[in-house]
Parts: sequence; structure tokens; C-alpha cells
Amino acid sequence: MSDCIFCKIAAGEIPSNKVYEDETVLAFYDLNPMAKVHVLIIPKEHIANVAEIDASNSAVVAHIFEVIAKIAKDLGLDEGYRVVSNCKEFAGQSVYHLHFHLLGGEQLSMNMC
Ligand code: 5GP
Ligand code: ZN
Repeated sequence: MSDCIFCKIAAGEIPSNKVYEDETVLAFYDLNPMAKVHVLIIPKEHIANVAEIDASNSAVVAHIFEVIAKIAKDLGLDEGYRVVSNCKEFAGQSVYHLHFHLLGGEQLSMNMC
């Protein structure tokens, strides 16, 4: 999508601090970290949010979770981490390109909402 900031990051048109990249997935540090380690993992193809996941695109989501496990190991998040995806207004989604927040590197709050 031409006006999507994460599509532009995936295309290399906007710079990002990359953690991992392959043909279908990109991971980069969040601009406004909410924890000591805060990485965003996105599919390179535009999917708006988790509500848009279906049989036609779920393979990349499965791959994203393999990538998350690898990144967490590589970054030494052995004591634990949280994976979050905000979907639409009530959850505070601000970028409408599917992304998973990987949060860790410290004790996280138990407040889930
Ligand atoms: P959401 O609020 O949609 O769940 O998460 C969007 C996240 O993207 C926010 O945590 C925000 O800090 C991050 N973000 C927004 N624009 C950029 C950007 O241009 N670069 C990076 N690295 N992160 C961004
Ligand atoms: Zn996009």
C-alpha cells in the first residue's frame, strides 16, 4: 500500500534499525520503546491487522512466530518476553499494517489492558 509507513519500511524507503530480515518478514526496533527490548515484527506483504488473517496469508504469520522465537533467543530474552498485536481502535492500533510487538529485557507489568 503506497501510503502505509510499514510498507515503506519493508521496501527500504524509510530507514529502520533492523534486527532480522528475510524474503517475507522484517523485524526492527520500535521508534518509541515501551520496554528495554521492543522489536516490531511485520510481514512484508500488507495485511491490515490480525482481523485480516485467513487461509490465504496465515503461512507468513506462522513464519513470523518462528522468527520471533529466533530473535528472542538471539537477543538473550531467556527469562521471558511478551508478544502483542493491537487490532483496531479499541486496542490502540496506530499503524494499520500487521505487526507483533516483542517486549522484554526486564520484568513486565501484568497489566494486560
Ligand atoms: P500500534 O500502536 O499500532 O500497536 O504500534 C505501532 C508501533 O509502531 C508503535 O509502537 C510506534 O512507536 C511504532 N512506530 C510508528 N512509526 C514508526 C517508525 O517509523 N519506525 C519505527 N521503528 N517504529 C514506528
Ligand atoms: Zn503496509
